[in-house]
This record gives sequence, structure tokens and C-alpha cells, in this order.
Amino acid sequence: MSDYQVLIVGGGNAGISAAAKLLLKNGNLKVGIIEPSEKHYYQPAFSLVGGGTFDINTTVRDEESVIPHKATWIKDAVATFEPEQNTLTCASGKKYTYDYLIVAPGIQLDFDKVKGLKENLGKNGVTSNYTFQTAPYTFECLENFPKGGKAIFTSPNTPVKCGGAPQKSLYLSSDYLRRKGFLKDSDVHFYSGGTIIFGVKKYAETLLKVVARYGIKTHFFHNLTEIDGERKIAYFDKVDTAGKFLERIEQSFDMIHVTPPQSAPDFIKKSPLAVPVVPNTPFFGWVDVNKNTLQHVRYPNIFGLGDASSLPTAKTGAGVRKQMPVLVENLLSLMDGKPMTASYNGYASCPLITGYGKIVMAEFDYDNNPMETFPFDQSKERYSMWLLKKYALPFLYWNMILKGQM
Ligand SMILES: Cc1cc2nc3c(=O)[nH]c(=O)nc-3n(C[C@H](O)[C@H](O)[C@H](O)COP(=O)(O)OP(=O)(O)OC[C@H]3O[C@@H](n4cnc5c(N)ncnc54)[C@H](O)[C@@H]3O)c2cc1C
Repeated sequence: MSDYQVLIVGGGNAGISAAAKLLLKNGNLKVGIIEPSEKHYYQPAFSLVGGGTFDINTTVRDEESVIPHKATWIKDAVATFEPEQNTLTCASGKKYTYDYLIVAPGIQLDFDKVKGLKENLGKNGVTSNYTFQTAPYTFECLENFPKGGKAIFTSPNTPVKCGGAPQKSLYLSSDYLRRKGFLKDSDVHFYSGGTIIFGVKKYAETLLKVVARYGIKTHFFHNLTEIDGERKIAYFDKVDTAGKFLERIEQSFDMIHVTPPQSAPDFIKKSPLAVPVVPNTPFFGWVDVNKNTLQHVRYPNIFGLGDASSLPTAKTGAGVRKQMPVLVENLLSLMDGKPMTASYNGYASCPLITGYGKIVMAEFDYDNNPMETFPFDQSKERYSMWLLKKYALPFLYWNMILKGQM
């Protein structure tokens, strides 16, 4: 007999909500969750923390408090997978066997891919909303920003969690400077390794107007490669449309908000579960799943969920909310020997913060077609969506989503 009927790798948004939903459907299942962290974070609020409009302490809870009470928490990190033996091995050396496996360890932040970044994060005006530790420093940088100063915001050429988050920081910071009366004398730049402002045309049109309103200078095809914190200089590689190096650009800054390069976790990349393609191609290393059923393409008793999966859509908690019920339904059908009929359509959502009290609520599918929930034009900046993001969604996350009820 296996150690667990369902074993889950990762106790983040995806892992906890899937465990909770499975146990709501069948309380007799033996479910284990492998998660090394003592803390669980509500990461979508980090953007608001960086704008000084959300308390960082309310974005974190003890992991123990979010583990469903009928599940077992294994406080360890998975190191390797032996899918032919239905076994995995943890960093402690312990092995666990399973009947079914859900793999949801999130995305890896590759701060070390930018020279000098790790050493300077949290000082010298170098910040990032991507970690609990540094999100509050973004606001500190804004408060100390000099009149006539230069602010840089970056976005890498890799997949990132919440593709809109680099711009949320850009617009919220610009609005902060506007309110302080500093914006017209400031020099605000957006350096992106991407090619366009946003993938869904309907929302991109609004964002271009927001960029113009704040007087932001945009630079696409630019990848951050190095930061000299002492001299406050950032270096970028400018590339052509084929990604070929053109020239190295040097820019001074008073503050720089960095969205780090991101990739599949290393232990997934090296595992037999990963998409078997060459390194540095878009799908390299992610958990190789069917984009509709979420079942692994080579190991039928393994499923992938959330940011670590190869699903070709934006990596968001909102996407997880729609993936998770599909996965649970299909997994339970498989356990019962029935056909898997639930299908995920790539739904993802990104509340694009365009200023204090203003959000464009982007919602779209695999083909970048808008999939809007509300009976109004969601490409408009709205206060109601700000209230949803700042108050309703955090409440729903802790009280419904993590409990498998949404
Ligand atoms: C700044 C920022 C803003 C965002 N804004 C939004 C937003 O507005 N809307 C939205 O929908 N989404 C947003 N997101 C994205 C959202 O937080 C993620 O998409 C979501 O958390 C993904 O869930 P997940 O479970 O796949 O990953 P996570 O929630 O990151 O959880 C992964 C878990 O796996 C664990 N883990 C890692 N390695 C191992 C291992 N070896 N073994 C076992 N466990 C492991 C980790 O400790 C972690 O607990 C934002 C994220 C950030 C950082």
C-alpha cells in the first residue's frame, strides 16, 4: 500500500486549494502535502504593499493554519521524482510513495541571473515587489525619492508570475510621484525584455494611454543584466526581434524596481516530469501536462497545477482558481475508472493597477480572447475593481479559495 492516496508537492495557492477541494469531495482520502516553508503568503497583495497601501503583515500566515485538517503536512522539500516506482525523495532523504501525485511547487525567482542584484536587493534603491522581504522597501524608495530623480522599472524576457505585476509597480509608483507633485520633474522608465505592453489588445490600448498620462518612457527588447548598487547604475542588453544581442545600455537610477527572471524550479527542470525541450526555449522545464485535463502527458497518475505547470497561459492565482476544480474532477474520475471530462480553457486574470483607486481587470483565455466576468467594459480603469482587489480578493483567498470552496 502507498503512503498516500494523493500526495501533493507544494503547499502554496494551488496545493492547498486542491487538497481542500479533494477532501471536501471525499473526506476519507489519505492526502499528504509536502511543503518546506513555515509560512504561507498571499502574494497578489505584494504589489499594493509596494505602493504603501497594504499592510505586509496581513499577507502572511503560518503554513500550519492553512493545511486542511484532514491532510498531513510533511515539512520537507521534494528533491527527486521516481515516477516509474510511484515514489519521490525529499531533501531529508525520506522517500514517499503515492497512488496519485499533484505537482504544484510554483515558479522559481532567478535573482542570481542578474549580476549584482542579490547583493543589492533591499538597499541602494534596488527593490522588488516579488518577495515578502523586499516589497515594503519599494514604498521606502518612493518616500525617499528625490525631486527630479530617475526611476526604472524592469520586466524580464522570461515567463513571470502575474505578467502584469511589473507594470502595477510602475503605475502605482508614478501615481505616488504625481500625488507628491514630483512626477513632471521625474524621469520614469519601463525597461522590458518583452515586445509589447500587454498580450491582450483590448487591455493594451488602455495601458498605452496610462503610460502616456504618466509620461513614462518605454523600452522593449531590453534585458537587465547587471546592477552596480554603489554607483546606482543598471546595465541592459538590447536585443533584436530574434533575441540577438545589439548593444549594452547603461542607465543611472535613484530607484530601480526589478522583476527578476523566472523559470521552472530546478528540481523540476532536472526531473523526468519536465517538458523535454532544449534549455532557454519557452516551455523548458515545466511540469509537462495536457493543457485541458492537467494530467501529465507521460505519467497518467500525475497531475500538474499552477505556476510550475506547462499550461500556456499567464501564471496567476486566478488561473489556479479555474484549473483546480478541473484537476480535482478529473483526478476523482480517474480514481473511479471513469473518463476524464473536465477541461480547462486557459482562463487567467490580472488586476492591472493603473493608479491609487484604479484597476483594469483583465480576464482572458488561451487565445488571449477577453473572458470578462462583469457586465461592464473591463478595459476601463475602475474604482470598483480596486475595491475587489484590495478588500474582497484577500478575504476570499484566506476564507474560501484556500478552503476549496471557490
Ligand atoms: C508581486 C506579485 C503579484 C501577483 N499578483 C497577482 C494577482 O494580482 N492576481 C493573481 O491571480 N495572481 C497574482 N500573482 C501570482 C500568484 O501569487 C501565483 O500565480 C500563485 O501563487 C500560484 O500558485 P502556486 O501554488 O502555483 O505557487 P505558490 O503559491 O508560489 O506556491 C508554491 C509552493 O511550493 C513550495 N515549494 C517550492 N519548492 C518546493 C519543493 N522542492 N518541495 C515542496 N514544495 C516546494 C513553495 O514553498 C510554495 O509554498 C502575483 C504574484 C506576485 C509575486
